[in-house]
Amino acid sequence: MSESAQFTSAIDHSVPGLKKLIKNHLKFSLARDTQTASRRDWWLATSKAAQSLIIERMIATQTAHHRTNAKRVYYFSLEFLMGRLFSNSLYSAGIFDEIELALQEMGLDTETLRKEEYDMALGNGGLGRLAACFLDSLATLDLPAVGYGIHYQYGLFKQEFRNGHQVELPDAWLTYGTPWEIVRPEHSTEVQVFGQVENVFDDRGNYVPRWTGGKKILGVPYDIPIPGFGTNTVNFLRLWESRAPEEFDFEAFNRGGYGEAVREKNVSETISKVLYPNDKTESGKELRLVQQYFFVACSLRDIFRRFRKDNEAWEDFPEKVAIQLNDTHPAIAIVELLRLFHDEYGMAWEKAWSIVTKTFAYTNHTLLPEALEKWSVPLFQKVLPRHLQLIFEINKRHLEQVEAKWPGDVHRKRVLSIIEEGHVQMVRMAHLSVVGSFSVNGVAALHTQLLKAELFPEFDEMFPGKFNNKTNGITPRRWLLACNPRLSTLISKKIGTGWERDLDKLRGLEQYANDPDFQSEFMAVKHANKVDLARIIKTQIGISVNPAALFDVQIKRLHEYKRQHLNLLHILALYRRLLQNPDLDIAPRVFIFSAKAAPGYDLAKCIIKAINSVGTHINADKRINDRLKVVFLPNYRVSLAQRIVPAADLSEQISTAGKEASGTGNMKLALNGALTIGTLDGANVEIREEVGEENIFICGMTVEEVTALVKKGYRPHDFYMANEELRAVVDWIGSNYFTPDEPGCLRMLCDNLIYNDPFLVLADFQSYSDSHKLVDAAFKDKPRWAKMAIMNTARMGKFSSDRTIGQYASEIWKLDPVKV
Ligand SMILES: *Cc1c(COP(=O)(O)O)cnc(C)c1O
Repeated sequence: MSESAQFTSAIDHSVPGLKKLIKNHLKFSLARDTQTASRRDWWLATSKAAQSLIIERMIATQTAHHRTNAKRVYYFSLEFLMGRLFSNSLYSAGIFDEIELALQEMGLDTETLRKEEYDMALGNGGLGRLAACFLDSLATLDLPAVGYGIHYQYGLFKQEFRNGHQVELPDAWLTYGTPWEIVRPEHSTEVQVFGQVENVFDDRGNYVPRWTGGKKILGVPYDIPIPGFGTNTVNFLRLWESRAPEEFDFEAFNRGGYGEAVREKNVSETISKVLYPNDKTESGKELRLVQQYFFVACSLRDIFRRFRKDNEAWEDFPEKVAIQLNDTHPAIAIVELLRLFHDEYGMAWEKAWSIVTKTFAYTNHTLLPEALEKWSVPLFQKVLPRHLQLIFEINKRHLEQVEAKWPGDVHRKRVLSIIEEGHVQMVRMAHLSVVGSFSVNGVAALHTQLLKAELFPEFDEMFPGKFNNKTNGITPRRWLLACNPRLSTLISKKIGTGWERDLDKLRGLEQYANDPDFQSEFMAVKHANKVDLARIIKTQIGISVNPAALFDVQIKRLHEYKRQHLNLLHILALYRRLLQNPDLDIAPRVFIFSAKAAPGYDLAKCIIKAINSVGTHINADKRINDRLKVVFLPNYRVSLAQRIVPAADLSEQISTAGKEASGTGNMKLALNGALTIGTLDGANVEIREEVGEENIFICGMTVEEVTALVKKGYRPHDFYMANEELRAVVDWIGSNYFTPDEPGCLRMLCDNLIYNDPFLVLADFQSYSDSHKLVDAAFKDKPRWAKMAIMNTARMGKFSSDRTIGQYASEIWKLDPVKV
């Protein structure tokens, strides 16, 4: 028990000690003196001071993991949406208050410095943010873990609005460097892509296939330390940057001269150049497959190196290594690990495959068909010819098992095959992931149920017990402690600290939900946060909003299934009701949107334009007396979410039932005391279970109702004809009333709703609109609203990512904590 050596720090954590550390970094790391230092310099110096403490613990952690030869989990993800790391590092290093004081004494403050940091936005949305929350929880729970991904030179594009239209600008997050990363050229590794398969004699006289002639690429790792909260564990995130193996290709130089040689180099460096900005759609682009293979191949070589330091026998690999695949994006790792064992280490197929399938676990994130990754066989042949052969062999053996279980069942073989037959054969990455993993999990109870019953019923039958649920969560450190200091302070005052590492403790607030004093304190915090957000709105987009109004918030990627356009229809209906009945008694509302659309997603961009145009019009209409405001904050990202979430009264979670796998924005908002208006979709179902149905506004069709309607044949035009108000607002959008300068520009949205409406917006409109009337009534009853808001915060313990990661560790990875 007393075996673990207690870590002691060599750094002086006192206020004077930290002051000196910051000044030393300013001088020796940045070559600045206190007179000429800019805010950014101070931010960098302070960050480096915090980083020193964290690095000290990282070294101790890695030593402990090595010494105990601990099993580690490797989290493979093409996306990590980290946001800013400054506050998180200060809290985790346990020096937030000390740094605040140290800075104060030098005439500075954390709040100002914090804003100097550029968001680390190496992800699109929920999937990437989940990976970031998981890293935080893994470290906080003392679990040995490494995250693996790509060191993109450009993260998710920056969004601006020009005349209400989205424009995309490059996200040059590394322009001024980042204090958090450590480059480790000594762990660089070489991989290849393209080339061909030749049959050659190996060193035992066997005629074997060998992958030759590929293009060599160097992967250089950058490490970001990941400190746990309230513990010494510091794990790391290792991101690969692609480089040309030689600075300069002399052969190319001799062939084509300088320009040719540099171009060769540029191709290699293109791989980690930019994050693909598509959320929930796969474009099948060659570079994307190369990105996937590149980072996975580098990571596996890195894992091999680490495994070999402490272990002899490959049989022990699954005892020491668990690899979690965040969606199918890294699924090619299954084939690469098999190839390494079988081709490179000469292991028999059966043994290699048995180790592989004890190593990988796969998380499915979506049921949307357009999001399920498929690669054409010709593309695979070009990029990864040997892997394609191995996939066909995996599939052959897989289909033999199907035949053994269901002899002669041709249909079953077709649906279970890794290869989709057709004009062009396609490799189904989800099928490969299911076959190659020992665990397949969904991300909310409803999602897992649909995964088993609708997407993969035959697989569930073939592999009973392989499918399981791990409902998503969020880290309370970022999504309450750091983003909402006022509420955090109030909570700790009322129930003490400890909830940061044990979120179920928030249940202690329930007993005060009816207490008028606590209600007014709780709502005073909410009001102060709304005043802050109102100031941000004013500075960012010049619109004045009333902090006493109901802040109705929908923040998430712009996607048809998330139905921002349903929200817009309701805004128009309210606006019209106010124009037709100026005495209508409704609580003033501010509708707040923030969302990026994928650059090639025309309808999503049209919805952005529609919200902006309608908003501009409503905000300028004096007749409605500021009772409605519509605000669209540009450039949605983690740091902006951290400002909006604490100020929200109402959380819009209105995806078509069955389409949102889980959602995590829903959890952030409810945790911070926003009430949810939402469909019975994703984790909303479990949020309702936790908070109680009296503390949530549920509307719209259920999954069963959606299925029945679609089966019967959904005709949006019927709903449009049958509902006078709905017809009026849809036509209003389609007219040029809101876009006189750009006639026809919203036509595509209007036509889509009337004639297509794949996500049943019109079918759910009336129910949604009715539910909003209940919201209005509840908001006017201040004590009732306060009680409901407190109940939401108090009952969100389940949605801590610590709970989620605890379940992954014990039920999937069989992973034990290591105390440092
Ligand atoms: C939490 C988060 C998301 C996911 O939001 P959902 O509402 O679950 O889709 C997306 N982007 C950012 C920046 C986030 O912080």
